[in-house]
Amino acid sequence: CGIVGYVGGQSAQDVVVAGLKRLEYRGYDSAGIAVLADGGLAAAKKAGKLVNLEKALGEHPLPAGTAGIGHTRWATHGGPTDANAHPHLDNAGHVAVVHNGIIENFAALRTELGERGHDLLSETDTETVAHLLAEAYSQSGEPAEAMRQVCRRLEGAFTLVAVFADAPDVVVGARRNSPLVVGLGDDESFLASDVAAFIEHTRSAIELGQDQVVELRRDGVLVTGFDGRPAEVREYHVDWDASA
Ligand code: GLU
Repeated sequence: CGIVGYVGGQSAQDVVVAGLKRLEYRGYDSAGIAVLADGGLAAAKKAGKLVNLEKALGEHPLPAGTAGIGHTRWATHGGPTDANAHPHLDNAGHVAVVHNGIIENFAALRTELGERGHDLLSETDTETVAHLLAEAYSQSGEPAEAMRQVCRRLEGAFTLVAVFADAPDVVVGARRNSPLVVGLGDDESFLASDVAAFIEHTRSAIELGQDQVVELRRDGVLVTGFDGRPAEVREYHVDWDASA
């Protein structure tokens, strides 16, 4: 439902949770976050309102990091439980992904992943993407290339944002039939399903086109099509009254 991604100099947890709050008006049933920290990946997720997640983070703080992703979920596949909340991780805990929309061919993907020894722990369509990303990343070692390969296998509508433990300065996003906006700050970059999530930080934005992947770094972004071809990007100024 709501997606936020961040890489910069601030606390990723603070920026992501604040961004999710700005998206609360859309409605949701669970919330979660993952941050890249201490050479690894740490995640927390909770059914219910964002305050439940904030309480969990207060009791078990994540290590401090400056890159991360967050999600507020509106369940379509699997009930609103902690296990079904996003982010979803692969079995090794090396990849975390959040997702808006529906992966239509998830049942076939689940079967295929099961046959290859993956252990799926939730009832969501989304979890398949975490496992596929882990496989693709182990081949290419490149977050954006892994995302492109996986997106070519997916059917349906999706916005995906992922982080990889081995790539501590990168957040990767992709979209098809579901929105994703990039925010360009001063040595910090943002991804969100809606500009509302980051307009307190920057008004400089790029709308990701259909079937495109973005590699987000502190100092800028690289956008390609699912086929790997560089895409043209047009930066625009967000003219939007933050008090509205
Ligand atoms: N289909 C996914 C799920 O049920 C994502 C739902 C959403 O857009 O929040 O977990």
